[in-house]
Amino acid sequence: MTDWIPVQKDKKHIARERARAKELRKSQWWQDKLNAGICYYCRKQFTREELTMDHIVPVSRGGRSNRGNIVASCKQCNNAKKYLTPVEILMKKVSPVQKKKSE
Ligand SMILES: [Zn+2]
Repeated sequence: MTDWIPVQKDKKHIARERARAKELRKSQWWQDKLNAGICYYCRKQFTREELTMDHIVPVSRGGRSNRGNIVASCKQCNNAKKYLTPVEILMKKVSPVQKKKSE
C-alpha cells in the first residue's frame, strides 16, 4: 500500500490524543470556549449545545489534542469540514463562507 500523504498510522497516538481531548473537555479553558460560543470557522455565535470540539488537524492525520489544535466548531462547519483537507479549510477561511444546504 502506498502512502501518498504523510499519515501517522499510530494507533497509540490516536488513543492518547483522543484521551487528551476528553480531558480537555473538562477543563476551564474549554468551558470558557463554550461559554464564549464563537465558532472558530464561521465566527458566528452559538449556544454551548450547538458547538462541538474540533481538531484543526485531525488526530487520525497526526494532529494533537492541545490548545493550538482544538477549536470550538458549530455543527454545520464541523460537517462541512469532514470532506475537506486542512488546506482547503484554510482557503475557505480566506474567502467568505458560503451557506449551503446539507446535501
Ligand atoms: Zn461555524
